[in-house]
Amino acid sequence: MTHVVPNAIAQLQQLIGEADAMMGFTGAGISTESGVPDFRSPNSPWRTHRPIPFDSFMASEAARKEAWRRKFAMDDLYAGARPNRGHAAFASLVASNKMMAVVTQNIDGLHQASGIPADRIVELHGNGTYARCLGCGQRHDLGPIRKTLETTGTPPVCASCGGILKSATISFGQPMPADAMTRAYALAERCDLILVVGSSLVVYPAAAVPVLAKRQGATLVILNREPTPLDDLADLVIHADIGTTLEPLQN
Ligand code: NAD
Repeated sequence: MTHVVPNAIAQLQQLIGEADAMMGFTGAGISTESGVPDFRSPNSPWRTHRPIPFDSFMASEAARKEAWRRKFAMDDLYAGARPNRGHAAFASLVASNKMMAVVTQNIDGLHQASGIPADRIVELHGNGTYARCLGCGQRHDLGPIRKTLETTGTPPVCASCGGILKSATISFGQPMPADAMTRAYALAERCDLILVVGSSLVVYPAAAVPVLAKRQGATLVILNREPTPLDDLADLVIHADIGTTLEPLQN
């Protein structure tokens, strides 16, 4: 294990140069430079607009209304957020085919906005930029949902099947998306280098992905400004700012 080292960027570049099958794994920290607050840092607005657990969401219309109110309050906080230097570095690594894919816990769509094709992004916790019907699975835009809520005070239901509409994120207590988990574990089984950026690595099963990659022999690199519970498992730990560290990796 190597802790903060002055030539961390050079070491990271060397590991990337040597890798044949690299994957990325990102958390909320990669998006803070874009103005999207992370979850666990002090004074995070996610604590005052805490997402409603899935069972409560399903239990009452009042809870669903409150869930939408909190969701749109958070959306307003980072409306117009654009990809930053960290996202650009990942996009470069994917575009050059050095990186197979990015597994992300993020729901903000900024990896897609940075130019990474959707099929090279695995979203473990869904996507907050649209909604889905929990009945028939149909995708819905957020704009009309918000308009209905604001004009009628009632959350709309699916026009096709009458089902409950929910932001396409995975709430606490909601089953993980099986396809995304399968793809993430397959990447972890195959990779020889995993670059973990901006995650506190306390949310499971997501954090099991880097653990699996390391156990099957991959080199594990963790970039985060504070320690994580997986630092002792890592081959290289960089406690530094994400944008500054990854900027040299952009093309
Ligand atoms: P987290 O908030 O638990 O941890 C983020 C980590 O990144 C922290 O350890 C923090 O110190 C670090 N960090 C923040 N900015 C940094 C920077 N500029 N440089 C270096 N380190 C930085 O995030 P998580 O592990 O992804 O777990 C949060 C959960 O909440 C996820 O499951 C995710 O679905 C959801 N979430 C998503 C977003 C998003 O989509 N952007 C934002 C908040 C929460």
